[in-house]
Amino acid sequence: MCDSNETGSLSFDTKAIHAGQEHERWSNAEIVPPIVTSVTYYQKDPTNIFAGYCYGRDGNPTRDALARCLAALDNGKYGLIFPSGCATTTAVIHLLQTGDHILSCSETYGGTRTIFLTQAKMQGIEVDFVDSTNVELFASAIKPNTRLIWLETPSNPCLKISDIAAIAKAARSHKDIIFVVDNTLMTSYFQQPMQLGADIVMYSLTKYMNGHNDVLAGALVINDSKIYEDLKLIQVKFGLTCSPFDCFLVNRGLKTLPLRMNKHCENGTAVARYLEKHPKVVKVIHPGLPSHPQYELAKKQSSGYCGLVVVQLSGTINEATKFIHNLKVFLSSDSFGTCTSFAVLPAYASHIDVPKEVREQLGIFETTVRLSVGIENTDDLIKDLEQALVKTFE
Ligand SMILES: *Cc1c(COP(=O)(O)O)cnc(C)c1O
Repeated sequence: MCDSNETGSLSFDTKAIHAGQEHERWSNAEIVPPIVTSVTYYQKDPTNIFAGYCYGRDGNPTRDALARCLAALDNGKYGLIFPSGCATTTAVIHLLQTGDHILSCSETYGGTRTIFLTQAKMQGIEVDFVDSTNVELFASAIKPNTRLIWLETPSNPCLKISDIAAIAKAARSHKDIIFVVDNTLMTSYFQQPMQLGADIVMYSLTKYMNGHNDVLAGALVINDSKIYEDLKLIQVKFGLTCSPFDCFLVNRGLKTLPLRMNKHCENGTAVARYLEKHPKVVKVIHPGLPSHPQYELAKKQSSGYCGLVVVQLSGTINEATKFIHNLKVFLSSDSFGTCTSFAVLPAYASHIDVPKEVREQLGIFETTVRLSVGIENTDDLIKDLEQALVKTFE
């Protein structure tokens, strides 16, 4: 199998299995990348110890195999692996200096918002959160000192979709702006932000990319060698490195990413269509439903939908809580993007710290239920929802 630099012509599914982990790379021609746990390496030439691998914070063969595979999947040049999604965000804000400005979409992952509002502000960095579904409004919020544009699309939990190519164009018309897209919800399988003009693609690998709810990790994919070198230095300096075992697990998870995402898409769409017709359901948010405000944009910019479905039930918090208790296949649990189906109340989980008025403006109410539809049997999932709704409203 060719080098990861030469896998460009291969399709996504093939790269997920081969890219960056070719047997020629390992001393025993392993088909599965070995889990290299050694922190240091024997140095034949003590005057040139940085020629190859030297110390685990600088580089590790298992981690580098995953980084090469992820870069190939996004058609990017460089990958960096971090111990969590939040660690990647931490690294990115350290590219900025006091006096710089971050322009962020209004609905971000809670942890991202916290990093911007606490650590970035402490470093003297200005932050604005602006509705990115309105490109004109968003672009007009770019300032002379804007250095970073942060976009999450679709957003979590309300699945608002922003036009990546249009925002990339606005970012490019200003000098020195780094445009980051958090691609956690779509994965590189359904959405390729770098091809639409992003400078950095960011992942919480904890979600769909690993997909098995057993690893916390994050990644950045980068094309520009200067941005890569700067981020690599931040990573090594701050020690934002991921364990070889976790890297091995993510690499294994990636091999089934296309299969899993197709099933998440099929199941999520089926659940959304079923719930939309149910008399006890007030509203369903899913980009595959024609009722979604950015239905056309979703079809244009990505090739599928993840397993997230947002449901507004009739009744009060009592009904919403009863509904989640009554579910048997869907488990009451936070997080998403795993084989197992989950149900959660975002107002009491990811958005518990957001003031009620702001939260409701975003469309997250007390009774909003977020379903993370897994890859179980479709009929079993629908039957589970059906029995839970009957029991809740009887
Ligand atoms: C979970 C998540 C993060 C943070 O990732 P961790 O791995 O939990 O640190 C960032 N962005 C999005 C969209 C997420 O869902």
